[in-house]
Amino acid sequence: MLVFILNAGSSSLKYQLMNPIIKKVFASGLCERIGIDGVLKHEYNDGKKLTLEVSMPTHKEAIEAVLSTLTTGEGKVIDSINDIDAIGHRAVHGGEEFSGSVLVTDRVIETMKRLIPLAPLHNPANILGMEICQELMPGKPNVAVFDTAFHQTMPDYAYMYALPYDQYTKHGIRKYGFHGTSHYFVSNEARQMLDKKYNTRIVVCHLGNGSSVSAVLDGKCIDTSMGLTPVQGLMMGTRSGDVGAGALQYMMTQEKISIDDALNIMNKESGILGISGKSSDLREVLEGMQNGDDRCRLAVEMVAYNIKKYVGGYVAALDGIDALCFTGGIGENSALIREIVCSGLDGMGLNLDPTKNNKRRHDARDIATNSSTSRIFVIPTNEEYVIANDTFKVVSEIR
Ligand code: ADP
Repeated sequence: MLVFILNAGSSSLKYQLMNPIIKKVFASGLCERIGIDGVLKHEYNDGKKLTLEVSMPTHKEAIEAVLSTLTTGEGKVIDSINDIDAIGHRAVHGGEEFSGSVLVTDRVIETMKRLIPLAPLHNPANILGMEICQELMPGKPNVAVFDTAFHQTMPDYAYMYALPYDQYTKHGIRKYGFHGTSHYFVSNEARQMLDKKYNTRIVVCHLGNGSSVSAVLDGKCIDTSMGLTPVQGLMMGTRSGDVGAGALQYMMTQEKISIDDALNIMNKESGILGISGKSSDLREVLEGMQNGDDRCRLAVEMVAYNIKKYVGGYVAALDGIDALCFTGGIGENSALIREIVCSGLDGMGLNLDPTKNNKRRHDARDIATNSSTSRIFVIPTNEEYVIANDTFKVVSEIR
């Protein structure tokens, strides 16, 4: 079973070719600067790398270039695109329509088009990716795996905003949450790592450029930090996270800017970048802090403090905790952020072992002390595997 995994963004796309049954990745890569010029970065045969400059006026040329790179020349890993059994698409917003992965049909595409107002940047690119694959690989099944699906189990009192109720009934204004494939993967791994099989109370901190926390009870999400859009919740690389509506309105008045400009600031110029004034990349900001830059220190402390507040809130929402999980570039690699988040949480049963925390490893591991009542796990996420495996499952059901 060979699955071509596609994650189409507005000006870039990521891909992988994977056999989910044996969890083997044959190739992966990235097309950047679509619509500008075009660069294809291809990795194949366990670490060999290739960079190609290819003209990519649209996503179609980009996907054509990827398929050609997979099947011909130096980066070739398969003889023909006929070797691909199915295509798995990362789809960002499934609204309330999709609570699991689905075979892409005309109806699914129609529904995703209807949901474009909820994700105006992401859903059009995802749909385009699906339509291009249908055209370039006719007859091959396409499966949509939604970022929002895992969070559809949240109870109404967790996902509702306390706005007038008809804002929900008329427009679907509520919390949806994102990074669902990662929260699903990590919480599922954590459940297997726990001795306990029932009433498993897990908090997952997915900390990358985009970050979110979720509370997962017995494998089902009961709350998550992102909202109708990804700007809500934690402070992120360039996103502000939670900001009061009054502060937003006041900034718009003072700066004489529109709501679109204000949201652009909140999505692209805030967070770690906005506070540090240096970078959206936590590594660079940690370096700045070590060199005595006080705004970098502030950014790091704010990041950790915000995560800690959500963790505490979700431990309360779950009536306790069995495992706190860290994942994503920051969660998997920054011992300092993990240390600050876990400090003082002994009363909640979370007792971090400093030696285990500081050891550089890349596998799933427990970094709590042996005597800690609850576990603290670092679990590398694998969203591509979830997409490939769901694609395999959906395709197997229709066969
Ligand atoms: P994305 O959300 O784009 O997939 P990643 O999950 O790769 O992002 O996370 C990127 C973030 O992880 C960046 O802020 C980067 O600085 C941070 N990061 C990666 N390695 C380390 C490290 N060793 N220490 C601290 N932060 C790290």
